[in-house]
Amino acid sequence: MSGKGKNNTCAWCSRPTTLPAVFAAETPLIEWVEEKINMFAAARKLDRNFIWGTNSDWSQLKIPAAFEVELLAYDELLSTVNRKHICKSCLVEDHKLWTKYYQNIIDDPGDIDVIIDDIK
Ligand SMILES: [Zn+2]
Repeated sequence: MSGKGKNNTCAWCSRPTTLPAVFAAETPLIEWVEEKINMFAAARKLDRNFIWGTNSDWSQLKIPAAFEVELLAYDELLSTVNRKHICKSCLVEDHKLWTKYYQNIIDDPGDIDVIIDDIK
């Protein structure tokens, strides 16, 4: 980290970045995987957390083997966190996806029967 403007390589997209290293997962959030999780949940009228949450129990869900392999790989990549350089556009995009899929209730009108505002 010596010298101004020293270029490092973004661990996610391989573009040069001058940002300092941060703790980040092996992969950014992947929108199509997140969408697939949402679609799988919606098709079974389940909350996303039943499939992709700390208390999810896949043995009860009959997840197709190929999808389970994808989820396991994704989970592994996301839970492997270490110091790396991530460029600004990746950080912005990752935060955007995190906000979309992890911070708020799934913004997928039509698939959600329960309106969270009613519960509050
Ligand atoms: Zn990047």
